[in-house]
Amino acid sequence: MPRSFIAEARKRVGAKKQRIKPVIERLAVEHADAAIALTFGSPLELLVSVMLSAQTTDVNVNKVTETLFVKYRTPDDYLAVPQEELERDIFATGFYRQKARSLRGTMQMLLEEFGGEVPRTLPELVRLPGVARKTANVVSSELGNPQGVVVDTHVRRLSQRLGFTKEEDPVKIERDLVKLVPREDWGRFPHLLIWHGRRVCMARAPRCEDCVLTDLCPSSRV
Ligand code: SF4
Repeated sequence: MPRSFIAEARKRVGAKKQRIKPVIERLAVEHADAAIALTFGSPLELLVSVMLSAQTTDVNVNKVTETLFVKYRTPDDYLAVPQEELERDIFATGFYRQKARSLRGTMQMLLEEFGGEVPRTLPELVRLPGVARKTANVVSSELGNPQGVVVDTHVRRLSQRLGFTKEEDPVKIERDLVKLVPREDWGRFPHLLIWHGRRVCMARAPRCEDCVLTDLCPSSRV
């Protein structure tokens, strides 16, 4: 889009500080069911599910964890079997060698440094092998202690389209979002964008004609 159109569109919708609250409120009504799509019953299962979800779908992870979590209930269980057995058990999630290594390393550290419990803070979570910032953000947020804003492909795309960030790098996008999004909304904001991205504001063909944000979105086509 030419620069003049972008500037014009930004003027039409107003400053992002004024738009962020109505955007959240409208999306919360539109996607009242927005929540994490992974199935888990404990902080440990949450951590494992999020680690397994890299490069695959949540549906796929849920299929694998349905049986995985019957067999592996504690951090010790992941260390009690040979690595190859764990690899076989998580094979369908892809990148199974790397994921098995990360899971075992993480379980080891949970036992040695955290009393077998999943820590809640970002600095502790990112110390676990194979746990990057995004995984740590998802886990701390789902455990009721959001310490940042999760940035995935939908959050990135929608934040850019809504004019909340001009950045491409997820860490810089998150930096913009934590300044803009009220702290009490850090947990639900990514879910709202993810569900809006899946249902309405798709990557290739956003359905602006069906969107509740047209008057608040500088990228609206209607
Ligand atoms: S108006 Fe269009 S581009 Fe903007 S959020 Fe809605 S669907 Fe996406």
